[in-house]
Amino acid sequence: MSYKGHSQKPPQKRLFVALMGLTCILVVGLIYLGWWIPTMGLANIHPELPSLAGMLFGVLSGIALLGTLLLVLTTALGKDILFTRFMRGVVIKFLLPLIEQIGRLCGISKDTIRQSFVAMNNSLVTSQRLKIKPDRILILLPHCLQLFDCEIKVTGDIGKCVRCGRCDITGLSVLAQKYQVDISVATGGTLARKVIIDKRPKLVLAVACERDLTSGIKDCYPLPVIGVLNDRPFGPCFNTRVDVEKIEAALRSVLV
Ligand code: SF4
Repeated sequence: MSYKGHSQKPPQKRLFVALMGLTCILVVGLIYLGWWIPTMGLANIHPELPSLAGMLFGVLSGIALLGTLLLVLTTALGKDILFTRFMRGVVIKFLLPLIEQIGRLCGISKDTIRQSFVAMNNSLVTSQRLKIKPDRILILLPHCLQLFDCEIKVTGDIGKCVRCGRCDITGLSVLAQKYQVDISVATGGTLARKVIIDKRPKLVLAVACERDLTSGIKDCYPLPVIGVLNDRPFGPCFNTRVDVEKIEAALRSVLV
């Protein structure tokens, strides 16, 4: 079985940015409707009320537009302009669920949106230009990266891998040793959370499918997570692979 070559196209944040723009337009439209419909009745209560409500809704629309613009500029320039950490929280907690629904209405699959979300999240994390010591970085891997019929139990201690080269655990354990960073293989979300609580990293470099990366990024917020998608040449959760060079590049971008 060959483990050379990784075919998956890198996920694009452009889709997420486009859907964010569409969501923003819809939100502003709803805000306008929310102002316009009750305005007719408000004038009967007090003649000044429609203009006061108009001002309030104008401010809310302005916040939605400026927030979207800020997010687009931050990812486009790769620079922490203003409140990037907070904006990442807004994207994770509010925009992602809305965008998933809008994407569904546009016929875009959840997985495609999640891939794009991971790319957008990575862009926001890297725009913060964090510089972290190796001992505060954790590389978190899914169990399915290990060759299915390998008899060594690397969960909990990747050091047991004898680096036979039959799966990407070899390259990843070499990488972790080279840069002196913590590396763990987790069998699921519960174990992954436990590893994070135990090791208390300042940044997690996680490998997983788009679904697990999305839920991991959400669960970990405000802890920054850079997500790298695994390749699944044999279907989900079985002998998956990852481009070790991508992990190394991400690692080097955040190391002190
Ligand atoms: S590289 Fe390590 S984990 Fe993978 S098959 Fe070989 S010994 Fe097992």
